[in-house]
Amino acid sequence: MTGIVVLGSTNMDLVAYVAKAPQRGETVTGREFRTVPGGKGANQAVAAARAGGDVSMIGAVGTDDFGVRLRAALDGSGVDTDRLRTADGPSGTAHIVVDDEGGNAIVVVPGANGTVDHLAPGDEAVIAAADALLLQLELPLAGVIAGAEAARRHGVRTVLTPAPAQPLPPELLAATDLLVPNEHEAAVLAGTTDPGAAAEALLRQVPEVVITLGAAGSLYAARGAEPVTVRAPRVRAVDTTAAGDTFVGALAVAIVEGRPMPAAMAWASAAAALSVQRPGASSSMPYRPEIDEAAD
Ligand code: ATP
Repeated sequence: MTGIVVLGSTNMDLVAYVAKAPQRGETVTGREFRTVPGGKGANQAVAAARAGGDVSMIGAVGTDDFGVRLRAALDGSGVDTDRLRTADGPSGTAHIVVDDEGGNAIVVVPGANGTVDHLAPGDEAVIAAADALLLQLELPLAGVIAGAEAARRHGVRTVLTPAPAQPLPPELLAATDLLVPNEHEAAVLAGTTDPGAAAEALLRQVPEVVITLGAAGSLYAARGAEPVTVRAPRVRAVDTTAAGDTFVGALAVAIVEGRPMPAAMAWASAAAALSVQRPGASSSMPYRPEIDEAAD
C-alpha cells in the first residue's frame, strides 16, 4: 500500500439534463436530474484508492445532507475521511446544466470548501507520513499553499493539478514537484498552445511536468531530459468526465510505487481509458485488477 494524501475539494454535482439550456430570463423543463458526488479533490482520492493507493482526504464537507453523502461516497471507495472536516453551513455544490449536444454550463458554489484556507491541527502530521500529496485549485489558494509547503518541509512529493486554470503564485510553484495540467491549463500557464513549448516553459518553474492531451495521450518533460509522449489506448469514449482526475489518481499510485514515469503514465492512461468508456465521473473509475488487465 502506498500513502497518498489528497488536499482538495468535495462537491455535490447537481446535474440537470435539458434539450437546450435556458437563456437569461427563460425557464425550460428538463428531462432528468441527478446528484453525483464530485469535486476534483474527492475524484482524485477515489481514483487513487481504487487504483490501490492508501488514500487519506483532507478537506471539508458541510453540515447538510450532501455532506453526509459526500463523506459516505469517499468511505465507500476506501478513502480515509478522518481528516475531512465538517464545517458549519452547506457543502460545496456544482450546478450543472447538460444540453442535448453534450455542452454544459456550470456554477460552482464552494460552500465548506471555502473554509479550507489553512491546515487544521493534525493535518501536517498526516501529510508528513505520506509518500505524495495531491493538490488542485478548488480550495482557497492559502489552503493549497499551506499544504504544499507542509509537504515540502517533510520531503513529501507534491503533485499539482492546476485546475481551474489560473496563474499560479510563486510560492506554490516553488513547492510543486510535478505539475499535471491538461492542454488548456498548460496554455494558460505557459502562454502557448503548443504542448512541447508549454512543457519547456513550465520546466523553468517546476522540475517535472506531465501535460494530458485527451485522446492523444500525455507528454512528460523533466529538466535535463528529452520529453516523452505516451499514447492513450484507442477506445470508444462515451463520457470523458473526470478522465483527468482518474489519470492523476492512478499516476500518483504508480509513482509512489516507484515505477519510472513513462511506465506510470502508461498505467494511468489505461485507467483513464477505462473510465472514458463508461458514463459517470467517480462511478466510472476503474479498480486496480481492471487497470492491470487493461495495461497488460
Ligand atoms: P476532464 O476535464 O474530462 O477530467 P482533462 O481535460 O483534465 O479531462 P484530458 O487531457 O482530456 O484531461 O484527459 C486525461 C487523460 O485521460 C488523457 O491523458 C488520456 O490518457 C485519457 N483520455 C482522455 N480522453 C480519452 C479518450 N477519448 N480516449 C482514451 N483516453 C482518453
